[in-house]
Order: sequence, then C-alpha cells, then structure tokens
Amino acid sequence: RAKAFGKARYHVFNPAMHQEALQLLQLETDLRRAIERQEFVVYYQPIVSLCEGKISGFEALVRWQHPTRGFVSPAEFIPVAEETGLITFIGTWVMREACQQLRIWQEEKLSQESLTMSVNLSVREFSQPNLIELIDDTLKKTQLSPQNLKLEITESAIMEKDGSVTAILQQLRNRQIQLSIDDFGTGYSSLSYLNRLPVDTLKIDRSFINPIDKNSESLGLVPAIITIAHSLGMSAIAEGVETQQQLAKLRTLNCGFGQGYLFSKPLGSKLAADLLASSPQY
Ligand code: C2E
Ligand code: MG
Ligand code: MG
Ligand code: MG
Repeated sequence: RAKAFGKARYHVFNPAMHQEALQLLQLETDLRRAIERQEFVVYYQPIVSLCEGKISGFEALVRWQHPTRGFVSPAEFIPVAEETGLITFIGTWVMREACQQLRIWQEEKLSQESLTMSVNLSVREFSQPNLIELIDDTLKKTQLSPQNLKLEITESAIMEKDGSVTAILQQLRNRQIQLSIDDFGTGYSSLSYLNRLPVDTLKIDRSFINPIDKNSESLGLVPAIITIAHSLGMSAIAEGVETQQQLAKLRTLNCGFGQGYLFSKPLGSKLAADLLASSPQY
C-alpha cells in the first residue's frame, strides 16, 4: 500500500486515487474472507522434457474463485497478498495441496517416480523464519519425497534478500529439494552471484521465448541463457512456449525443458490427471 502511494507523494490526492485505494481495501477484505472460506484452487501446468517429449513435472498455480467476480488472476491478487502478508497463508495451503496431489498421483501409479511438483514462493514467504519447518512439515504430512519438490523463486526476490538467501537455499539443498529461478532474465543477477547459489534450474522468461520463431536473427539472449545454465550444471526451462516453431528452435538450441500453452494450459487436478494418464508425446 505504502509503495503504491509513494510515487504520488508530490501530487494532490485525486478521486481516481481514492477509488484505487478503495478497490485495494476491498480486495484485501475479500482475500481474508477467501482464506476462511477456502475459495482457492490449485491448477497444474505440465513441464515437458524436450528430448523425451514427455511430461517431467507440473507447476502449481493458484486460482481464486471469487463468489461474484469469478476467477481472479494471481497477477492481480498475489501482489496484494504479498503486501498484506496474507501470502503466507495462501502459500502454505498451495504447497500442502500441491504436494498432496503429486503423492496421490504417485499412489495411483499415474506418475513415474521422478515426476516433480514446482511451487512458487514469493519474497515474503522466503523470509518467513519458519519456512524450512513449514516445508519439512508439509513433506512429512503428505509423505512426498523432497526430491519431488521444486521451489520457484524469482531473480529479484533472491537479490532483494541477498545475504540470508544463500543459507536458506543451502538448507533446501541439504534436503535434496530442488530450486528454480523463475522469470530468469527479467530481474538482474550478476553472473558470479548465480554461480554461488545452489540452484538447479533457470526458467527463461516468456518475453525471451516469444520472439524466437519470427526469424533466425530473433533468438536474442535465449542461446546465451541456455549456455549459462548448462555450463553452471543447471537445466533450462523455456516458459511460454506457444508454437511448434518455438519448440523446434528450442530443440535445436538443446533447451532441456519447456512449458506453455503449446503443451497445455494450467489444468484443474482432474484434467491434469487425465492428461498424465494419456502419456502424451510432444
Ligand atoms: P509464473 O510463476 O512465472 O507462472 C507462469 C505464468 O505464465 C502462469 O500465469 C501461466 O498460466 C502463464 N503461462 C504459462 N504458459 C503460458 C503461455 O504459453 N503463454 C502465456 N501467455 N502465458 C503462459 P498465472 O497462473 O496467471 O500466474 C501468474 C504469476 O502469479 C506466476 O508467474 C507466479 O509468479 C504467481 N503465482 C501463481 N501461483 C502462485 C502461488 O501459488 N504462489 C505464489 N507466490 N505466486 C504464484
Ligand atoms: Mg513460476
Ligand atoms: Mg515464471
Ligand atoms: Mg513468467
């Protein structure tokens, strides 16, 4: 909230700002109620191994089924949830739900042992003093192996927390939990920084993937990012793969993994299970 007003400090408070403030306040009230009434649902989007052409994991993406507004996009409510601290409740629930879901798929023999579940963590969650405890507790209660869990954190979140981050990442690594840097290329991390972090995967932001099917000169930074990932012993996931041309380019660039509407949109648990059961070959 304070941040939103910060920019306007030297301007006269106008009716539009008043309106915006009211809307934010309403959203916050609605969010608190949504947590009580459990209006959240987790959707799952497959991540595909590009050499095998098979689903290698899913990313859990939260959805809010608002009683009057219908589905509210996480892009709209996650920032408010972060500012108000409500994200810790939502995040804990999403992680629990996602781990439980993968465990169910394992028990139903729908998934091979190596299938992973990726869960997004915001900065605010990352700085919870009991984060590790929460994760341990979730894994214990859902009986999921730590190797099957991947956490996604953005580059900017890592930079923001600086010093304290490495220690937490190391604790995750000690447990064999995997770590991805989300939206890679949009924040900015120094390359030496990257080298010091125990990270497994770089997720190349959709904005870099989008133009690569236009012409042969449009590969931009994508080959460089893939090379950096591989030379640091990490894998690369291309986000937002939407066309066959993009997929073909990514394969020639040796990008290990892809995610995007070309393979599947995020799906509710039932449809995600159906997709998994059909063993699609991409
Ligand atoms: P993200 O983690 O980078 O997730 C990828 C977003 O790109 C998702 O949007 C997904 O639906 C969308 N996407 C996937 N493939 C394509 C494609 O081919 N084309 C296009 N145009 N978009 C694609 P979504 O689900 O709206 O989530 C937006 C952001 O909200 C996420 O970005 C993530 O930062 C945040 N978020 C979602 N769920 C959670 C959560 O449980 N916890 C936290 N902390 N953040 C979450
Ligand atoms: Mg993500
Ligand atoms: Mg992303
Ligand atoms: Mg993104």
